[in-house]
Amino acid sequence: MNENNNCPICDYSNSEFFVSSKVQMQNNDSIFSFHKCLNCDSIYLYDPPKEQDLSHFYDENYLPYSSDNIWGKYTNLVKKWQLMLDKRRINFLLDLNKKFDKETRILDFGCGHPSFLYELEKKTGWKCFGYDFSNNGWIKHKNTFDKINLYSGDFNEIEFKNKFNIITMWHSLEHHFNPKQLLKRLHDISLEESLLIIEVPNFNSLSRKIQKENWAGFHTPRHSVIYSPKSIELLLENSGWKVERILNYGTLDAYIFWWLGEIEKKNISKNEIKSLEKYFSHFLLFKVLYFPIFLFEKYFSFGLMTIICSKK
Ligand SMILES: [Zn+2]
Repeated sequence: MNENNNCPICDYSNSEFFVSSKVQMQNNDSIFSFHKCLNCDSIYLYDPPKEQDLSHFYDENYLPYSSDNIWGKYTNLVKKWQLMLDKRRINFLLDLNKKFDKETRILDFGCGHPSFLYELEKKTGWKCFGYDFSNNGWIKHKNTFDKINLYSGDFNEIEFKNKFNIITMWHSLEHHFNPKQLLKRLHDISLEESLLIIEVPNFNSLSRKIQKENWAGFHTPRHSVIYSPKSIELLLENSGWKVERILNYGTLDAYIFWWLGEIEKKNISKNEIKSLEKYFSHFLLFKVLYFPIFLFEKYFSFGLMTIICSKK
């Protein structure tokens, strides 16, 4: 936890107010502030919730933990989209053209409901490991995931017998309040030729500039740092990793990410988070209307970025 409010990237103590934002994706009126570090320009959550209070922001009234039924008649469509996302992530790894085989060991850090690892194991036969601070994502589906090695609890206490060839963090790093310590630990448990793949919201993006405090990248107060290409490179370099490439986009559909910010703007998350079904037609209509704009996603960042790293 960042109790002294120093910059989580460079540990500098001086900062200035940047923006305030209400709690997102939850029925909660609290307001939090983000500050800008006066040394490295990183944007980070000032006065974050205390560790013992953090669980309130991940309770059953938090959108991703709500049941699938909030999508009503669109539930099956949402499930199909999740499968497409898992497959995009698998193809992303296979397109890296590294010599992976059945002995390849992958750790998905922050795996949540581990459908990505399930699909990956089915397609490649790799040895798949998943970690999340809570086992909520798989505890009710244990038999489905019997080929995946799943861990929860204190990450520093877990002993892995062998090191990993590849570590993925899909929208996970930004939830951690001590990212430097975490990245050093991931460095310790990976092999010399290992790859680390990180997908996070991009502070230097169009949707952040347009949607301001409603931008889904703040995810207030669950995101500790709002990374830019510059700040994430600084963090990685200081944690033993070398940035190979930064892509302007993620595997997550940038339109969905933008739409989540629109939900915040309309205050839907506050009033009617339990039933998003009626907003789905709005979602689909604008998906079609905006489709041509999002074709340019690879040329400048709409909201996300992906970082490919190797060990220094
Ligand atoms: Zn700093």
